[in-house]
Amino acid sequence: MELTDLTIKKAHQGLVNGEFSALELCKAYLDRLKEKEKEISSYLTVVEDFALSQAKKIDDMILEGRDLPVLAGIPCAIKDAILVEGIRCTAASKILENYIAPYDATCVKKLKGEGAVILGKTNMDEFAMGSSTENSAFKITKNPHDLTRVPGGSSGGSASGISANECVFALGSDTGGSIRLPACFCGTVGLKPTYGAVSRYGLIAFASSLDQIGPMAKTVEDCKIVFDVISGKDEMDSTSVEPKLKVQSEKLKVNELRIGVPKEYFIEGMEKEVERVIKKVIKKYEELGAKIEEISLPHTEYALACYYIIALSEASANLARYDGIKYGYSVSDKPASLMDVYLQSREEGFGPEVRRRIILGTYALSAGYYEAYYLRAQKVRALLRKDFDEAFKKVDVILTPVSPTTAFKIGEKINDPLKMYLSDIFTVSVNLAGLPALAIPCGKTAPHHFAKEVRKQKRFNKEKIFSSGNKNLLQSGGGLPIGFQIIGRPFEENVILSLGEIFEKYGRAH
Ligand code: GLN
Repeated sequence: MELTDLTIKKAHQGLVNGEFSALELCKAYLDRLKEKEKEISSYLTVVEDFALSQAKKIDDMILEGRDLPVLAGIPCAIKDAILVEGIRCTAASKILENYIAPYDATCVKKLKGEGAVILGKTNMDEFAMGSSTENSAFKITKNPHDLTRVPGGSSGGSASGISANECVFALGSDTGGSIRLPACFCGTVGLKPTYGAVSRYGLIAFASSLDQIGPMAKTVEDCKIVFDVISGKDEMDSTSVEPKLKVQSEKLKVNELRIGVPKEYFIEGMEKEVERVIKKVIKKYEELGAKIEEISLPHTEYALACYYIIALSEASANLARYDGIKYGYSVSDKPASLMDVYLQSREEGFGPEVRRRIILGTYALSAGYYEAYYLRAQKVRALLRKDFDEAFKKVDVILTPVSPTTAFKIGEKINDPLKMYLSDIFTVSVNLAGLPALAIPCGKTAPHHFAKEVRKQKRFNKEKIFSSGNKNLLQSGGGLPIGFQIIGRPFEENVILSLGEIFEKYGRAH
């Protein structure tokens, strides 16, 4: 097995047993990165020297015979919306192009405390606004399963980095699906924790009542390891709380669990292959003894509209701090008036999607419209939350697809924002209700389905479809990853993680 194929658990064992050093492990990843970045572009910043010096410290620890925490020496990547002291942090925006983080985000401080080796900062949609990572001001990240497709967004670089073995695990952030969607499109695991379970201190804010930092990794077990490290109350974030684990993982018995399957999540327009694979997952859990119940989350159809009012309103307020004065990009030829410094810096610094959202959010909050949009959306949010409360009286967890489609083509939705927003249809409710949710890969589209799609595209557009990515995919007979989502009660991350581990152990559908 290559060093870059390892999970956290296996890399840790290798380090403890002296099979390789932390420096060797780190170098293996840096070499892999140099080779893969040319085609994937997962990273915005790579901090080679910093990574090597961190790894060296771990080797010294090993030499001294000290106990090794499980993350010590493990190479990881951090989404570029999360601050790492002394390293550039751009949120993939021109407005923060030269911004150097003055302190560590709490979750980064915790990772460093455990000895994790940070390789760099990953690409994303600008200010985490998007579902494909195409909104980055700097580069387009490719899906390692098919280089002509998006990795999902907004934490696309974190997901593609894991999938292309350019890091062992990564941190992402999820406001409306940004951990789960890219995890799903790239065939990796991602956890969106309960609102408050992980400190947001040091996360560049998009929509503060929805944002959460969470782990992304190759396995559920790895996500659990990282979540254990980064979660907990932080005095720097008053919305953070100490999770009280109600069900110990060891005690979780799948045959005592009731899994709800909401009928609103199996909609028209869903790809047939997604439906086929998700139904197989449900069947697998049933075979393992879980009780499957059809449930209803009746307000689901309003979730997307509600999300886009609330998220954009909060974003318009949060992004007011980028004014060309305090920090970040400032227009170079200084205009005569202060107002023009504000206006021009923002116009030149923000990309088109961010500007669109600020305008919409400001409109929704403006006098006369506030009641009609923002306040209304808050009421709908309460109804959505109530749907889940009612459902969780009948079932212990809820199982849904992560996305109605598999990874789409680069360029396919970028000029149609509404189409892009629809990618989040199965993920936003979870953020609005503040719940934890885990995205797990569960299979791929069948090769014949993929071949059919290639033929269709060949017929309808003249674009170059036989890129190296597509060719590899066809040759390997593989298709595109499909993922499912397990939603839990607040602070029951351990329940959804355990259930995910059970699937990984017994159920992976092929
Ligand atoms: N895709 C969603 C949006 O564009 C969610 C983004 C996120 O979770 N950060 O808002």
